[in-house]
Amino acid sequence: MSSTSPAATLTFLGAAGTVTGSKFLVETDGARLLVDCGLFQGPRQWRRRNWEPLPVDPLTIDAVVLTHSHLDHCGALPLLARHGFTGPVVCSPGTAALAAIVLRDAAHLEELEAEYARRDGYSKHTPALPLFDTDDAEKAITLLQPHTGDGPTRLPGGATVSLHRSAHILGSTFAVLDIGGVRTLFTGDMGRPVHPLLAPPAPAVDADVVVTESTYGARQHATTGRAVLAEAIVRTARRGGVCLLPAFAVDRTPSLLVVLARLRQDGAIPSLPVHVDSPMALRALEVYRRAAAAHDPQLRPEVTDELLSGVHLDAARGDSERLNYPAGPCIIISASGMATGGRVLHHLAAQLPDRRNTILLTGYQVPGTRGAALADGARQVKIHGEYVPVRAEVVVVDGFSAHADADELLAWFTTVHPPRTAYVVHGEPDSAATFARRLGDELDWNAVVPGYREKVALRARQE
Ligand SMILES: [Zn+2]
Repeated sequence: MSSTSPAATLTFLGAAGTVTGSKFLVETDGARLLVDCGLFQGPRQWRRRNWEPLPVDPLTIDAVVLTHSHLDHCGALPLLARHGFTGPVVCSPGTAALAAIVLRDAAHLEELEAEYARRDGYSKHTPALPLFDTDDAEKAITLLQPHTGDGPTRLPGGATVSLHRSAHILGSTFAVLDIGGVRTLFTGDMGRPVHPLLAPPAPAVDADVVVTESTYGARQHATTGRAVLAEAIVRTARRGGVCLLPAFAVDRTPSLLVVLARLRQDGAIPSLPVHVDSPMALRALEVYRRAAAAHDPQLRPEVTDELLSGVHLDAARGDSERLNYPAGPCIIISASGMATGGRVLHHLAAQLPDRRNTILLTGYQVPGTRGAALADGARQVKIHGEYVPVRAEVVVVDGFSAHADADELLAWFTTVHPPRTAYVVHGEPDSAATFARRLGDELDWNAVVPGYREKVALRARQE
């Protein structure tokens, strides 16, 4: 072990002690880089950190590397831009396309929430303010710098980064950062070999340091997701009810549309109208269609533009209100996926009180969100300042996760040499601790769970 000062350091400014808020600061004498710049979501004690000044002056950051376009990875970019950051945000073309949609939508929701809160007087801030606004989001979007070439991208301070397919959402990548003679692999969010739309992740690469997610570090995914989904839809249709699927607009909605189309083709579910009530989901679907038309290698070869444009979209735009009182059994897909905001809140308020209906939760629900409360059997949920009774059936459909589970992650890592240190992040405390233990026990890795704002040295394996 070297006692000299390290060539680079790494500080965990998010996704440490919790799943959300991914922000990893890498510093050398010559450069200051941020890998991901996400928002905290879920419990208030984490969300309020979004309102605190960033622990690092945005003016001093040279560049951001963005692994993918989910809000807990890119959602703080507008804050960075508002406070003076003007450097490049290096990402894949798919991430740039989807991040623009996601950031515009997030700014719009922030503005809308502040507006509701002002009108109904339930804000904790006086006057109610959005965390960031459309101007901030637009500023951030201009900084997105999609990298199209095959080789690594040059960053300030002599650093380079290469981005590799991670099969989590379209454009998602793991990042391999070379800086100060040290190679660090950031998994970002690692997807799965069984994604309905995306090609399997690229193989892991040898690195001196690994920063790995652990969302499902203590769990194995069920393989019965399709059957559970189909049975719940059949049951609900028999009752004459509505199936409401809160779903992430990006990726989960197109994935669900394809899964539903296949279930219908197989005769596993009746042919019900499918309504996608999320303008963002429809915009994101367009990005998937363009990728399919261009034969993007991120997508499975069988995922064609025809398949995506063939999904049965009954009605979609602008008629949320009418959908609150559908004429008969139907499937409504709406965002956000954890029911933290967006149009799905109006649908939940309308559908939750009716016993014939079913709420189907197909994604990860961060503790503290309405989605997590529903999954845990809450009898009421608070929506727009009012308690709504939960009489509808609530079904947690496991198996559609876009995150690798513990076994899948371990299998992915078995092909590389042990790093000098692996930092286990992006997990609730139990998941991170369990996964760190398994990396140690099963792969003989030196794996630790870092603390929020902890700073560590980056050193090469053979130093
Ligand atoms: Zn993600």
